[in-house]
Amino acid sequence: MTLVTLQRRAPVAPGAASCHLCQNALGGNFQDHLLVGTPGTAAVRAVICAQCGDCLAGLIDLCGSDLRILIKDDQPPIQPTDEDRAAPASELDQTRHRLTREADTLGRTAQSLRAEADKLGIVRDTENPHGRQPGGSGRAV
Ligand SMILES: [Zn+2]
Repeated sequence: MTLVTLQRRAPVAPGAASCHLCQNALGGNFQDHLLVGTPGTAAVRAVICAQCGDCLAGLIDLCGSDLRILIKDDQPPIQPTDEDRAAPASELDQTRHRLTREADTLGRTAQSLRAEADKLGIVRDTENPHGRQPGGSGRAV
């Protein structure tokens, strides 16, 4: 049987941006770690958020730590209802979408400005009498 240790309020692990169990963003100075293996040699298997740590701690409080877990899921996948589909996006979602669109637009503007700058650089080069000659020969037709 796999021995799992829940290490509460562990220092933040570098590179872990989201909870391994619920995918919520990790923040703050502490997070929970799931270690697998015998004490002393256990290694961090996953970094999780404090809420998921609370769930696991609550399960252990309820059932004790000597447990095996089976998952039964006989129900068909949940389909979104008409009500879910009709629900307006939250203000935060709308703001997120708007900012994403603006970021895309700014990215395209930056690209076109860079292209214009490149063109201007080429024009300046070709107009420079000491530089590269425009329409330089040497190309076989
Ligand atoms: Zn979580």
